[in-house]
Amino acid sequence: MKGFSDEGDIPRRDLISLNKVPEALYTCTATELWQHLNGPTLLHLSGKEDTPLFLTILLHGNEHTGFEALKLILNRYRNKQFPRPLIIFIGNIAAAKANTRTLSNQIDFNRCWPGTPHKTSKEAAIMAKVTSYVQSQRPFASVDIHNNTGKNPHYGCINRLEPAYIHLAKLFAKDIVYFERPLGVQSAALASICPAVTIECGRIGESAINEETAAYIDRLLNLKELPTNLPSPDEFTLLQTISIIKLPEDASFSFNGTAADFILRPDLDELNFQKLSPGASLGVRCSKSQKQLEILSAIQDQPPQDIIEYKDNEVRLKQTAIPAMLTLDTNAIRSDCLGYLMQEINERGAPLK
Ligand SMILES: [Zn+2]
Repeated sequence: MKGFSDEGDIPRRDLISLNKVPEALYTCTATELWQHLNGPTLLHLSGKEDTPLFLTILLHGNEHTGFEALKLILNRYRNKQFPRPLIIFIGNIAAAKANTRTLSNQIDFNRCWPGTPHKTSKEAAIMAKVTSYVQSQRPFASVDIHNNTGKNPHYGCINRLEPAYIHLAKLFAKDIVYFERPLGVQSAALASICPAVTIECGRIGESAINEETAAYIDRLLNLKELPTNLPSPDEFTLLQTISIIKLPEDASFSFNGTAADFILRPDLDELNFQKLSPGASLGVRCSKSQKQLEILSAIQDQPPQDIIEYKDNEVRLKQTAIPAMLTLDTNAIRSDCLGYLMQEINERGAPLK
């Protein structure tokens, strides 16, 4: 069968390669995985059809839905052949042990795929090996599974506006986000190989989403092909990430009204996926502070948009925008960002009026 020789092409110190499901994987939790897998692991399981489905899970160690859904699938097909081969990359097992997104001495496992600015990192070397192996297997599609910390609907993210990519995302959820930044993410790297999607499964601990994600994977395992024509416009909503909002490192913030540079709305994450008008408030800035939220452009070759104003100490939007992934989670804010701003687009990438 296709896959690795006993020695493997890949040094085991960096990347473990397996052709069989270790027994513990049917039952253990994400935080226990380190007891059974001594590092990032690529699992290649055989199936009836030729073209494999590629899944990545636990690129962020505290986002467990991918692993929980995988366990449901592994148990469902135990002692049965998969309809098509399944290649699974189980990413940051060390961070999963600590139940955290990324360890402080690591590069974020979803910022170091080919195209990353962190080219010389050891994490980038691992992801480059995984990518080239998966490419050699001619995958049918790629799905990277995540959770987020704020209140968000479930949605799929794509890096190409092509029918197969839109279909792949739409099979998971109606809301589809197209993005070009940040760089070095799995779905952007895989997009040059096959239809690829990042699925955002909401907050962990909602058990229905584990089943829903397993059902999505099962559907892809059994799908003959992805349609090459666009779904009808009422079947999906396409959004583009235009800005990334960061808190400056030296700025303090609170959500409970405590004095800080930025006193943000306690219900900030309720704004996610709502269309906000110019003037919508994200919170207030301390009258003595001159600090500004950092706005990065999420669109290639475009300068950051002048999208936030500070009027009478209020932090307000200057134009219509739809937030995503706004979070109240201090860790997520400090290690990644406060959230994103999006606009609605058509399938050619043009903003909708
Ligand atoms: Zn994530």
